[in-house]
Amino acid sequence: MSGQGHTDRLAGMNLEDFQSTMREIYLARDEQRGVDGTFRWLTEELGELARAIRTSERTNLELEFSDVLAWLTSLANLLGVDLADAASRYNDGCPKCGGTPCVCPR
Ligand SMILES: [Zn+2]
Repeated sequence: MSGQGHTDRLAGMNLEDFQSTMREIYLARDEQRGVDGTFRWLTEELGELARAIRTSERTNLELEFSDVLAWLTSLANLLGVDLADAASRYNDGCPKCGGTPCVCPR
């Protein structure tokens, strides 16, 4: 699972490995809960991330980011979306203008 160009520079677990890990840990439960319930959890976790940002609780930020990432990944697993493929849309810069950094009009 290694040696693929766009993931080599990522530190730690790459997106493909993370999605696979989330699938192993949670897919059975995710399937029981279903897409709608999983999406609802994602929005609740986004709310918790918003609260952590607002209150500047630095220790909670990493935790809330990991929760949002996990629920987003569970949703992708349920819907058959490969996140590494989805992320590769940004390999060559902004998908709209092609720039790195983006030079799209604001
Ligand atoms: Zn752009």
